[in-house]
Amino acid sequence: MNEAESVIDCNSVKVKNSHCKKIDSILIIEDSQLLQKKIKDEITAKLKIVCDVASTEKEAKELLEKNSYDLLIVDLYLPDGNPDFIYYLIRKKFSILVMTASTNEEQRAKLVSLPIVDYLYKTDEKSITNYLVNKIERLNINRDLLVIICDDSALARHQVVDLLKTQNLPYIEVENGMEAYSCTLDSPQEISLLITDINMPLMNGIELITKIRNTYTLVELPILAYSSADKTSTIAQLIKTGANDFISKPINREEVLTRIDNTLKLSCLFKKNQDLISKLNTVATTDFLTNLYNRNHFYQIIEHIQAKSKRDSRYYGIIMMDIDFFKQINDNYGHKFGDTVLKSVAQIIKESSRDADMVHRWGGEEFIVLVPDTSIEELARFAQRIRKNVEKEKMTSDNSIVSINITISCGVAIANDTNIDNVENVINLADERLYKAKESGRNQVVYK
Ligand code: GH3
Ligand code: MG
Ligand code: MG
Repeated sequence: MNEAESVIDCNSVKVKNSHCKKIDSILIIEDSQLLQKKIKDEITAKLKIVCDVASTEKEAKELLEKNSYDLLIVDLYLPDGNPDFIYYLIRKKFSILVMTASTNEEQRAKLVSLPIVDYLYKTDEKSITNYLVNKIERLNINRDLLVIICDDSALARHQVVDLLKTQNLPYIEVENGMEAYSCTLDSPQEISLLITDINMPLMNGIELITKIRNTYTLVELPILAYSSADKTSTIAQLIKTGANDFISKPINREEVLTRIDNTLKLSCLFKKNQDLISKLNTVATTDFLTNLYNRNHFYQIIEHIQAKSKRDSRYYGIIMMDIDFFKQINDNYGHKFGDTVLKSVAQIIKESSRDADMVHRWGGEEFIVLVPDTSIEELARFAQRIRKNVEKEKMTSDNSIVSINITISCGVAIANDTNIDNVENVINLADERLYKAKESGRNQVVYK
Protein backbone atom coordinates (compact mmCIF):
# COMPACT_ATOMS: atom_id res chain seq x y z
CA MET A 1 0.00 0.00 0.00
CA ASN A 2 1.41 3.44 -0.82
CA GLU A 3 0.88 6.53 1.32
CA ALA A 4 -1.92 8.02 -0.75
CA GLU A 5 -3.98 4.84 -0.55
CA SER A 6 -3.62 4.59 3.17
CA VAL A 7 -5.13 7.99 3.97
CA ILE A 8 -8.79 7.44 4.63
CA ASP A 9 -11.59 9.87 4.91
CA CYS A 10 -12.95 9.26 8.37
CA ASN A 11 -16.48 9.97 7.19
CA SER A 12 -16.27 6.86 5.08
CA VAL A 13 -15.10 4.74 8.03
CA LYS A 14 -18.07 3.47 9.88
CA VAL A 15 -18.52 4.25 13.53
CA LYS A 16 -19.60 0.96 15.01
CA ASN A 17 -22.29 1.46 17.60
CA SER A 18 -25.00 -1.12 16.97
CA HIS A 19 -23.98 -2.78 20.27
CA CYS A 20 -24.66 0.43 22.24
CA LYS A 21 -27.89 0.86 24.13
CA LYS A 22 -29.42 3.19 26.69
CA ILE A 23 -29.78 1.38 30.02
CA ASP A 24 -33.48 1.78 30.74
CA SER A 25 -34.46 -1.47 32.44
CA ILE A 26 -32.48 -3.58 34.89
CA LEU A 27 -32.97 -6.96 36.52
CA ILE A 28 -31.35 -7.42 39.94
CA ILE A 29 -30.72 -11.09 40.74
CA GLU A 30 -29.79 -11.23 44.43
CA ASP A 31 -31.01 -13.48 47.24
CA SER A 32 -30.60 -11.00 50.10
CA GLN A 33 -33.93 -9.16 50.22
CA LEU A 34 -32.33 -6.28 52.07
CA LEU A 35 -29.52 -5.71 49.57
CA GLN A 36 -31.90 -6.24 46.66
CA LYS A 37 -34.15 -3.47 47.96
CA LYS A 38 -31.26 -1.09 48.70
CA ILE A 39 -29.87 -1.47 45.18
CA LYS A 40 -33.28 -1.07 43.55
CA ASP A 41 -34.19 2.01 45.63
CA GLU A 42 -30.85 3.70 44.98
CA ILE A 43 -30.89 3.11 41.21
CA THR A 44 -34.51 4.26 40.96
CA ALA A 45 -33.87 7.36 43.05
CA LYS A 46 -30.60 8.44 41.44
CA LEU A 47 -31.01 7.28 37.84
CA LYS A 48 -34.80 7.00 37.40
CA ILE A 49 -34.36 3.54 35.91
CA VAL A 50 -36.96 0.81 36.35
CA CYS A 51 -35.62 -2.29 38.15
CA ASP A 52 -37.13 -5.74 38.60
CA VAL A 53 -35.83 -8.10 41.24
CA ALA A 54 -35.39 -11.86 41.46
CA SER A 55 -34.21 -13.81 44.53
CA THR A 56 -33.56 -17.14 42.85
CA GLU A 57 -32.33 -18.51 39.55
CA LYS A 58 -35.82 -19.84 38.86
CA GLU A 59 -37.45 -16.45 39.40
CA ALA A 60 -34.77 -14.80 37.25
CA LYS A 61 -35.33 -17.20 34.35
CA GLU A 62 -39.09 -16.61 34.52
CA LEU A 63 -38.63 -12.83 34.36
CA LEU A 64 -36.07 -13.11 31.55
CA GLU A 65 -38.58 -15.13 29.51
CA LYS A 66 -41.25 -12.48 29.90
CA ASN A 67 -39.32 -9.19 29.75
CA SER A 68 -36.27 -7.70 28.09
CA TYR A 69 -33.57 -6.04 30.20
CA ASP A 70 -30.69 -3.78 29.19
CA LEU A 71 -28.55 -4.86 32.14
CA LEU A 72 -28.45 -7.67 34.70
CA ILE A 73 -26.94 -7.22 38.14
CA VAL A 74 -26.17 -10.77 39.21
CA ASP A 75 -25.11 -12.24 42.53
CA LEU A 76 -22.75 -15.08 41.69
CA TYR A 77 -24.06 -17.35 44.44
CA LEU A 78 -27.80 -17.95 44.64
CA PRO A 79 -29.42 -20.50 46.97
CA ASP A 80 -30.79 -22.57 44.07
CA GLY A 81 -28.17 -21.52 41.58
CA ASN A 82 -25.82 -23.82 39.76
CA PRO A 83 -22.33 -22.58 38.92
CA ASP A 84 -23.15 -22.50 35.22
CA PHE A 85 -25.94 -19.94 35.55
CA ILE A 86 -23.54 -17.09 34.76
CA TYR A 87 -22.39 -18.88 31.57
CA TYR A 88 -26.01 -19.40 30.60
CA LEU A 89 -26.57 -15.62 30.88
CA ILE A 90 -23.40 -14.86 28.92
CA ARG A 91 -24.48 -17.22 26.13
CA LYS A 92 -27.75 -15.30 25.97
CA LYS A 93 -25.62 -12.18 25.34
CA PHE A 94 -26.88 -10.14 28.29
CA SER A 95 -24.90 -7.19 29.65
CA ILE A 96 -23.93 -8.39 33.09
CA LEU A 97 -22.52 -6.84 36.25
CA VAL A 98 -21.45 -9.59 38.64
CA MET A 99 -21.45 -9.26 42.43
CA THR A 100 -19.49 -11.71 44.51
CA ALA A 101 -18.75 -12.10 48.19
CA SER A 102 -15.74 -14.30 47.54
CA THR A 103 -12.23 -12.88 47.14
CA ASN A 104 -10.82 -16.17 45.95
CA GLU A 105 -7.96 -15.48 43.48
CA GLU A 106 -8.82 -18.36 41.16
CA GLN A 107 -12.39 -17.17 40.88
CA ARG A 108 -11.26 -13.58 40.28
CA ALA A 109 -9.08 -14.73 37.38
CA LYS A 110 -12.10 -16.53 35.92
CA LEU A 111 -14.34 -13.47 36.26
CA VAL A 112 -11.75 -11.20 34.66
CA SER A 113 -11.70 -13.37 31.55
CA LEU A 114 -15.49 -13.26 31.04
CA PRO A 115 -17.16 -10.88 28.56
CA ILE A 116 -19.07 -9.06 31.29
CA VAL A 117 -19.32 -5.33 32.05
CA ASP A 118 -17.45 -5.70 35.34
CA TYR A 119 -17.48 -7.50 38.66
CA LEU A 120 -17.50 -6.10 42.17
CA TYR A 121 -16.81 -7.46 45.60
CA LYS A 122 -19.65 -7.27 48.04
CA THR A 123 -18.50 -4.98 50.77
CA ASP A 124 -20.81 -2.61 52.61
CA GLU A 125 -24.15 -1.60 51.10
CA LYS A 126 -23.14 2.03 50.54
CA SER A 127 -20.06 1.08 48.51
CA ILE A 128 -22.03 -1.44 46.47
CA THR A 129 -24.84 0.97 45.58
CA ASN A 130 -22.39 3.82 44.89
CA TYR A 131 -20.36 1.64 42.59
CA LEU A 132 -23.43 0.39 40.71
CA VAL A 133 -24.95 3.84 40.25
CA ASN A 134 -21.64 5.25 38.96
CA LYS A 135 -21.07 2.31 36.64
CA ILE A 136 -24.57 2.48 35.12
CA GLU A 137 -24.25 6.25 34.71
CA ARG A 138 -20.94 5.70 32.91
CA LEU A 139 -22.45 3.10 30.58
CA ASN A 140 -25.10 5.60 29.56
CA ILE A 141 -22.52 8.38 29.07
CA ASN A 142 -20.28 6.02 27.06
CA ARG A 143 -22.94 5.67 24.35
CA ASP A 144 -22.24 9.23 23.21
CA LEU A 145 -18.44 8.91 23.20
CA LEU A 146 -16.14 7.64 20.46
CA VAL A 147 -12.98 5.55 20.75
CA ILE A 148 -10.46 4.98 17.96
CA ILE A 149 -8.60 1.72 18.11
CA CYS A 150 -5.44 1.77 16.01
CA ASP A 151 -3.48 -1.45 15.46
CA ASP A 152 -2.16 -3.28 12.40
CA SER A 153 -2.99 -6.62 14.01
CA ALA A 154 -6.66 -7.53 13.48
CA LEU A 155 -6.47 -9.99 16.36
CA ALA A 156 -5.18 -7.38 18.80
CA ARG A 157 -7.87 -4.94 17.63
CA HIS A 158 -10.46 -7.60 18.15
CA GLN A 159 -9.47 -8.12 21.78
CA VAL A 160 -9.85 -4.43 22.54
CA VAL A 161 -13.08 -4.15 20.54
CA ASP A 162 -14.60 -6.95 22.64
CA LEU A 163 -13.85 -4.90 25.72
CA LEU A 164 -15.23 -1.66 24.25
CA LYS A 165 -18.46 -3.47 23.40
CA THR A 166 -19.00 -4.55 27.01
CA GLN A 167 -18.60 -0.90 28.03
CA ASN A 168 -21.26 0.41 25.63
CA LEU A 169 -18.58 2.39 23.74
CA PRO A 170 -18.88 3.28 20.03
CA TYR A 171 -15.61 2.77 18.16
CA ILE A 172 -13.72 3.12 14.87
CA GLU A 173 -11.06 0.58 13.85
CA VAL A 174 -7.99 1.73 11.89
CA GLU A 175 -4.80 -0.07 10.88
CA ASN A 176 -2.02 2.51 11.14
CA GLY A 177 -1.06 5.93 12.44
CA MET A 178 -1.88 7.71 9.17
CA GLU A 179 -5.47 6.49 9.26
CA ALA A 180 -5.84 7.37 12.95
CA TYR A 181 -4.41 10.85 12.35
CA SER A 182 -6.77 11.41 9.45
CA CYS A 183 -9.69 10.47 11.78
CA THR A 184 -8.62 13.02 14.38
CA LEU A 185 -8.78 15.72 11.68
CA ASP A 186 -12.00 14.61 10.09
CA SER A 187 -14.06 12.63 12.53
CA PRO A 188 -17.82 12.28 12.21
CA GLN A 189 -18.01 13.13 15.91
CA GLU A 190 -15.68 14.27 18.66
CA ILE A 191 -13.14 11.61 19.64
CA SER A 192 -13.00 10.82 23.36
CA LEU A 193 -10.08 8.41 23.36
CA LEU A 194 -7.42 6.97 21.06
CA ILE A 195 -6.00 3.56 21.87
CA THR A 196 -2.91 2.95 19.77
CA ASP A 197 -0.33 0.29 19.11
CA ILE A 198 3.29 1.45 18.69
CA ASN A 199 4.82 -0.68 15.97
CA MET A 200 2.79 -0.14 12.84
CA PRO A 201 3.51 0.42 9.16
CA LEU A 202 3.34 3.88 7.47
CA MET A 203 3.15 5.87 10.68
CA ASN A 204 4.07 4.34 14.01
CA GLY A 205 2.57 5.15 17.40
CA ILE A 206 5.28 7.58 18.48
CA GLU A 207 4.93 9.63 15.27
CA LEU A 208 1.14 9.54 15.63
CA ILE A 209 1.20 10.75 19.25
CA THR A 210 3.70 13.49 18.36
CA LYS A 211 1.51 14.76 15.52
CA ILE A 212 -1.70 14.68 17.60
CA ARG A 213 -0.08 16.51 20.51
CA ASN A 214 0.75 19.40 18.17
CA THR A 215 -3.00 20.05 18.06
CA TYR A 216 -4.67 18.43 21.06
CA THR A 217 -3.74 18.46 24.74
CA LEU A 218 -3.82 15.44 27.07
CA VAL A 219 -7.36 16.25 28.16
CA GLU A 220 -8.73 17.24 24.77
CA LEU A 221 -7.78 13.93 23.19
CA PRO A 222 -6.49 11.33 25.63
CA ILE A 223 -4.26 8.59 24.24
CA LEU A 224 -3.62 5.12 25.64
CA ALA A 225 -0.58 3.50 24.05
CA TYR A 226 -0.22 -0.25 24.17
CA SER A 227 2.61 -2.40 23.01
CA SER A 228 4.53 -5.58 23.66
CA ALA A 229 7.66 -3.43 23.96
CA ASP A 230 7.63 -3.17 27.73
CA LYS A 231 11.07 -1.67 28.24
CA THR A 232 10.92 1.10 30.84
CA SER A 233 12.69 3.43 28.41
CA THR A 234 10.01 2.88 25.72
CA ILE A 235 7.23 3.50 28.22
CA ALA A 236 8.95 6.65 29.46
CA GLN A 237 9.41 7.87 25.89
CA LEU A 238 5.72 7.28 25.13
CA ILE A 239 4.55 9.18 28.16
CA LYS A 240 6.97 12.03 27.45
CA THR A 241 5.76 12.17 23.84
CA GLY A 242 2.22 12.68 25.10
CA ALA A 243 0.51 9.35 25.78
CA ASN A 244 -1.72 9.61 28.86
CA ASP A 245 -1.01 6.05 29.90
CA PHE A 246 0.58 2.80 28.81
CA ILE A 247 -0.75 -0.76 28.66
CA SER A 248 1.47 -3.74 27.92
CA LYS A 249 0.57 -6.53 25.51
CA PRO A 250 -0.78 -9.16 25.85
CA ILE A 251 -3.52 -7.11 27.40
CA ASN A 252 -5.11 -7.84 30.73
CA ARG A 253 -8.83 -7.14 30.49
CA GLU A 254 -9.14 -5.70 33.94
CA GLU A 255 -6.11 -3.44 33.58
CA VAL A 256 -7.28 -2.11 30.22
CA LEU A 257 -10.81 -1.52 31.50
CA THR A 258 -9.57 0.42 34.50
CA ARG A 259 -7.25 2.58 32.41
CA ILE A 260 -9.91 3.26 29.78
CA ASP A 261 -12.36 4.17 32.53
CA ASN A 262 -9.96 6.57 34.23
CA THR A 263 -8.93 8.24 31.00
CA LEU A 264 -12.51 8.70 29.85
CA LYS A 265 -13.43 10.17 33.23
CA LEU A 266 -10.66 12.74 32.75
CA SER A 267 -11.77 13.78 29.27
CA CYS A 268 -15.46 13.89 30.30
CA LEU A 269 -14.59 16.09 33.27
CA PHE A 270 -12.66 18.41 30.97
CA LYS A 271 -15.57 18.63 28.52
CA LYS A 272 -17.99 19.28 31.38
CA ASN A 273 -15.76 22.14 32.56
CA GLN A 274 -15.54 23.56 29.05
CA ASP A 275 -19.34 23.47 28.75
CA LEU A 276 -19.68 25.12 32.13
CA ILE A 277 -17.23 27.89 31.21
CA SER A 278 -19.06 28.48 27.96
CA LYS A 279 -22.44 28.61 29.77
CA LEU A 280 -21.05 31.02 32.38
CA ASN A 281 -19.68 33.22 29.62
CA THR A 282 -23.06 33.26 27.89
CA VAL A 283 -24.80 34.24 31.13
CA ALA A 284 -22.20 36.93 31.85
CA THR A 285 -22.60 38.50 28.41
CA THR A 286 -26.39 38.21 27.97
CA ASP A 287 -29.11 40.60 29.09
CA PHE A 288 -31.65 38.55 31.03
CA LEU A 289 -34.77 40.44 29.87
CA THR A 290 -34.19 40.75 26.13
CA ASN A 291 -31.63 37.97 25.56
CA LEU A 292 -29.49 40.49 23.66
CA TYR A 293 -25.81 40.96 24.46
CA ASN A 294 -25.10 43.20 27.46
CA ARG A 295 -22.46 45.90 28.08
CA ASN A 296 -19.96 43.25 29.27
CA HIS A 297 -20.04 41.67 25.86
CA PHE A 298 -19.46 45.03 24.15
CA TYR A 299 -16.27 45.65 26.14
CA GLN A 300 -15.14 42.03 25.69
CA ILE A 301 -15.48 42.12 21.90
CA ILE A 302 -14.47 45.71 21.11
CA GLU A 303 -10.70 45.09 21.22
CA HIS A 304 -11.10 42.34 18.69
CA ILE A 305 -13.25 44.59 16.45
CA GLN A 306 -10.72 47.42 16.71
CA ALA A 307 -7.86 45.09 15.78
CA LYS A 308 -9.80 43.68 12.82
CA SER A 309 -10.71 47.20 11.65
CA LYS A 310 -7.07 48.24 11.64
CA ARG A 311 -5.93 45.06 9.93
CA ASP A 312 -8.48 45.36 7.12
CA SER A 313 -8.39 49.20 6.96
CA ARG A 314 -12.20 49.25 7.37
CA TYR A 315 -14.06 51.19 10.03
CA TYR A 316 -16.48 49.89 12.60
CA GLY A 317 -19.45 51.95 13.69
CA ILE A 318 -22.16 52.09 16.32
CA ILE A 319 -25.81 53.01 16.41
CA MET A 320 -27.05 54.18 19.78
CA MET A 321 -30.83 53.99 20.20
CA ASP A 322 -33.22 55.12 22.88
CA ILE A 323 -36.99 54.58 23.09
CA ASP A 324 -38.91 57.87 23.04
CA PHE A 325 -41.02 58.76 26.09
CA PHE A 326 -40.56 55.32 27.55
CA LYS A 327 -41.22 56.58 31.07
CA GLN A 328 -44.76 57.47 29.99
CA ILE A 329 -45.32 53.94 28.73
CA ASN A 330 -44.40 52.59 32.16
CA ASP A 331 -46.47 55.25 33.92
CA ASN A 332 -49.55 54.77 31.72
CA TYR A 333 -49.61 51.01 31.19
CA GLY A 334 -47.43 49.55 33.94
CA HIS A 335 -43.91 48.20 34.24
CA LYS A 336 -44.89 44.75 32.91
CA PHE A 337 -46.07 46.22 29.63
CA GLY A 338 -42.88 48.33 29.59
CA ASP A 339 -40.92 45.07 29.70
CA THR A 340 -42.98 43.65 26.81
CA VAL A 341 -42.13 46.77 24.76
CA LEU A 342 -38.41 46.39 25.55
CA LYS A 343 -38.50 42.75 24.39
CA SER A 344 -40.36 43.63 21.19
CA VAL A 345 -37.95 46.47 20.32
CA ALA A 346 -35.01 44.12 20.97
CA GLN A 347 -36.57 41.59 18.61
CA ILE A 348 -37.14 44.19 15.87
CA ILE A 349 -33.53 45.44 16.07
CA LYS A 350 -32.24 41.86 15.93
CA GLU A 351 -34.43 40.99 12.95
CA SER A 352 -33.34 44.16 11.12
CA SER A 353 -29.64 43.29 11.58
CA ARG A 354 -27.23 41.00 9.74
CA ASP A 355 -25.47 38.11 11.51
CA ALA A 356 -22.23 40.07 11.88
CA ASP A 357 -23.93 43.01 13.64
CA MET A 358 -23.91 42.76 17.41
CA VAL A 359 -27.00 44.04 19.17
CA HIS A 360 -26.60 45.09 22.81
CA ARG A 361 -28.95 46.31 25.48
CA TRP A 362 -26.88 49.20 26.82
CA GLY A 363 -29.09 49.73 29.87
CA GLY A 364 -32.72 50.76 30.58
CA GLU A 365 -34.34 51.53 27.23
CA GLU A 366 -31.07 52.15 25.40
CA PHE A 367 -29.56 49.85 22.78
CA ILE A 368 -26.28 49.81 20.85
CA VAL A 369 -25.64 47.98 17.60
CA LEU A 370 -21.96 47.40 16.91
CA VAL A 371 -21.31 47.04 13.18
CA PRO A 372 -17.86 45.68 12.31
CA ASP A 373 -17.28 46.93 8.77
CA THR A 374 -19.28 49.89 7.49
CA SER A 375 -19.43 53.51 6.34
CA ILE A 376 -21.35 56.41 7.90
CA GLU A 377 -23.89 56.46 5.03
CA GLU A 378 -24.48 52.71 5.24
CA LEU A 379 -24.85 52.91 8.99
CA ALA A 380 -27.32 55.82 8.77
CA ARG A 381 -29.44 53.84 6.28
CA PHE A 382 -29.34 50.83 8.60
CA ALA A 383 -30.46 52.99 11.55
CA GLN A 384 -33.31 54.43 9.46
CA ARG A 385 -34.45 50.92 8.62
CA ILE A 386 -34.56 49.96 12.31
CA ARG A 387 -36.34 53.22 13.21
CA LYS A 388 -39.03 52.61 10.57
CA ASN A 389 -39.49 48.96 11.58
CA VAL A 390 -40.08 50.01 15.19
CA GLU A 391 -42.44 52.81 14.18
CA LYS A 392 -44.74 50.56 12.16
CA GLU A 393 -44.97 47.72 14.70
CA LYS A 394 -47.99 47.68 17.07
CA MET A 395 -46.92 46.99 20.66
CA THR A 396 -49.63 44.84 22.21
CA SER A 397 -50.02 43.65 25.79
CA ASP A 398 -50.43 39.93 26.60
CA ASN A 399 -54.18 40.41 27.22
CA SER A 400 -54.47 42.57 24.06
CA ILE A 401 -56.07 45.45 26.02
CA VAL A 402 -53.18 47.83 25.25
CA SER A 403 -52.04 48.28 21.66
CA ILE A 404 -49.86 51.30 20.86
CA ASN A 405 -47.19 52.54 18.47
CA ILE A 406 -43.87 53.74 19.78
CA THR A 407 -40.78 55.40 18.30
CA ILE A 408 -37.04 55.46 18.83
CA SER A 409 -34.29 58.04 18.31
CA CYS A 410 -30.86 57.11 16.98
CA GLY A 411 -27.36 58.60 17.10
CA VAL A 412 -24.88 57.12 14.63
CA ALA A 413 -21.07 57.32 14.75
CA ILE A 414 -18.20 55.65 13.00
CA ALA A 415 -14.61 55.15 14.10
CA ASN A 416 -11.95 57.08 12.19
CA ASP A 417 -8.17 57.28 12.18
CA THR A 418 -8.08 59.57 15.20
CA ASN A 419 -10.45 57.65 17.47
CA ILE A 420 -10.16 54.04 16.33
CA ASP A 421 -8.34 53.09 19.54
CA ASN A 422 -10.67 55.05 21.76
CA VAL A 423 -14.12 53.52 21.73
CA GLU A 424 -15.36 55.94 24.43
CA ASN A 425 -14.92 58.75 21.89
CA VAL A 426 -17.04 56.91 19.36
CA ILE A 427 -19.70 56.17 21.98
CA ASN A 428 -19.72 59.83 23.11
CA LEU A 429 -20.12 61.00 19.53
CA ALA A 430 -23.09 58.65 19.01
CA ASP A 431 -24.53 59.79 22.36
CA GLU A 432 -24.26 63.48 21.38
CA ARG A 433 -26.05 62.74 18.10
CA LEU A 434 -28.73 60.78 19.95
CA TYR A 435 -29.25 63.81 22.19
CA LYS A 436 -29.57 65.99 19.07
CA ALA A 437 -32.18 63.57 17.68
CA LYS A 438 -34.17 63.90 20.91
CA GLU A 439 -33.85 67.70 20.91
CA SER A 440 -34.95 67.96 17.29
CA GLY A 441 -38.24 66.19 17.90
CA ARG A 442 -37.39 62.48 18.43
CA ASN A 443 -38.21 59.55 16.04
CA GLN A 444 -35.21 60.34 13.84
CA VAL A 445 -31.63 59.41 13.00
CA VAL A 446 -28.75 61.89 13.42
CA TYR A 447 -25.40 60.99 11.88
CA LYS A 448 -23.63 64.35 11.46
P1 GH3 B 1 -36.78 60.19 26.27
O1 GH3 B 1 -37.72 60.23 25.12
O2 GH3 B 1 -36.14 61.50 26.50
O3 GH3 B 1 -35.78 59.10 26.13
O4 GH3 B 1 -37.66 59.93 27.55
P2 GH3 B 1 -37.84 58.58 28.34
O5 GH3 B 1 -39.07 58.66 29.15
O6 GH3 B 1 -37.76 57.45 27.40
O7 GH3 B 1 -36.52 58.53 29.21
P3 GH3 B 1 -36.27 58.45 30.76
O8 GH3 B 1 -34.80 58.27 30.87
O9 GH3 B 1 -36.86 59.64 31.46
O10 GH3 B 1 -37.03 57.17 31.27
C1 GH3 B 1 -36.61 55.87 31.01
C2 GH3 B 1 -37.42 54.94 31.84
O11 GH3 B 1 -37.10 53.57 31.54
C3 GH3 B 1 -37.16 55.09 33.33
C4 GH3 B 1 -37.01 53.69 33.84
O12 GH3 B 1 -37.82 53.43 34.96
C5 GH3 B 1 -37.44 52.82 32.69
N1 GH3 B 1 -36.77 51.54 32.67
C6 GH3 B 1 -35.43 51.28 32.75
N2 GH3 B 1 -35.20 49.95 32.67
C7 GH3 B 1 -36.42 49.34 32.58
C8 GH3 B 1 -36.84 47.97 32.49
O13 GH3 B 1 -36.05 47.02 32.49
N3 GH3 B 1 -38.17 47.72 32.40
C9 GH3 B 1 -39.09 48.74 32.38
N4 GH3 B 1 -40.38 48.42 32.28
N5 GH3 B 1 -38.71 50.03 32.49
C10 GH3 B 1 -37.42 50.34 32.58
MG1 MG C 1 -36.00 57.10 26.31
MG1 MG D 1 -33.24 57.19 28.58
